Amino acid sequence: MNIHEYQAKAVLRAFSAPVANGFPAFTPEEAVEAAKKLGGPLWVVKTQIHAGGRGKGKFKEPEAGDKGGVRLARSIEEVETFARQMLGATLVTVQTGPAGKQVHRLYIEDGANIDKEFYLSALVDRVTSRISFVLSTEGGVNIEDVAHNTPEKIHSFSVDPATGIMPHHGRAAAKALGLTGEGAKQIESLVTRLYTAFVNKDMSMLEINPLIVQSNGQLRVLDAKVSFDSNALYRHPDIVALRDETEEDAKEIEASKHDLNYITLDGTIGCMVNGAGLAMATMDIIKLYGESPANFLDVGGGATKEKVTAAFKILTADSNVKGILINIFGGIMRCDVIAEGVIAAVKDVGLKVPLVVRLEGTNVDLGKKYIRESGLNVISADDLDDAAQKIVNAVRAAA
Ligand code: ADP
Ligand code: MG
Repeated sequence: MNIHEYQAKAVLRAFSAPVANGFPAFTPEEAVEAAKKLGGPLWVVKTQIHAGGRGKGKFKEPEAGDKGGVRLARSIEEVETFARQMLGATLVTVQTGPAGKQVHRLYIEDGANIDKEFYLSALVDRVTSRISFVLSTEGGVNIEDVAHNTPEKIHSFSVDPATGIMPHHGRAAAKALGLTGEGAKQIESLVTRLYTAFVNKDMSMLEINPLIVQSNGQLRVLDAKVSFDSNALYRHPDIVALRDETEEDAKEIEASKHDLNYITLDGTIGCMVNGAGLAMATMDIIKLYGESPANFLDVGGGATKEKVTAAFKILTADSNVKGILINIFGGIMRCDVIAEGVIAAVKDVGLKVPLVVRLEGTNVDLGKKYIRESGLNVISADDLDDAAQKIVNAVRAAA
């Protein structure tokens, strides 16, 4: 689960990380109120969307101006002007895709005098099974470019969970960023605080780009992006409360309510499959025959008729879906249950696109019989190859 920058900063502030003062604003009036409370003389008006690259982003609406999604303001009037321009406008950044994201919230923050911009992130590293820190003196810019062009400028170390964070990690961080004396002390205590926050809150990723040295020598977290491990959210109701569903895919939210593993993709063939491995194989074979999947959907081993119905409704409600392929191997899951779910869903929501069903395994004959006798316009298939070719041909014929 992802949260907004201002929420991430509040989480980090609770662990005593140095962040600036600021307030979220949902309206221009709230932005002015926030600016007054902060007092100035320099403010930053920051769009809050679940995507980075805001500073260099562009608004779709010309009225929103061409100064990007992070703007320095030197008066309260300017804060208000920016807030009016940005709220409701659609910001396109390298991370939003061409559709962009509509801005519903702003963060009004004290402006900082920046001396240096560093990069710092922490993540769960699957290779070492540890939390790793990544640091670079080249902050504020696209870190992927730094890694590609000047890999020697990227430093990393991992923390053994048995010992936790140690003074030598802090020294490694200071060395990576070329900090000595007071600066070294600050980074040493910062990595300790960040590690503690990371572990306590079950984060999966924490990225501070940039971490700055201000002209007074103090370190400050200037941007913050945090993701949490969804499997651990049950023990963090305070984090769950920060969820902003307007930033998430509506179909994925609906799927999560039915406990379905669903991810939206950009192809045209909707897939309903049981088991993640079979779902991956189904997506691959659709690609092999020249089309692309519209989603990943694993209905799970013990799906009920209701779950299958819900899944089918999500697929048919998606206007990108030009055809549906149901590929079920009945093990624990019985083919007749799947058939009943599909029939119930089609009766309920109708079927406007071709549907290919491939059933195999437990109660397959009964499942096929139900579908045959339902009178529905379903193309049945015998194996994976056959099914993929049939749905690709059907979608192409309908186009
Ligand atoms: P993004 O990564 O989405 O572009 P950032 O929060 O990193 O957004 O902001 C982009 C740039 O704007 C930063 O690299 C920094 O130069 C500037 N900036 C952001 N916040 C402040 C602030 N509080 N004071 C001064 N400059 C800021
Ligand atoms: Mg940034």
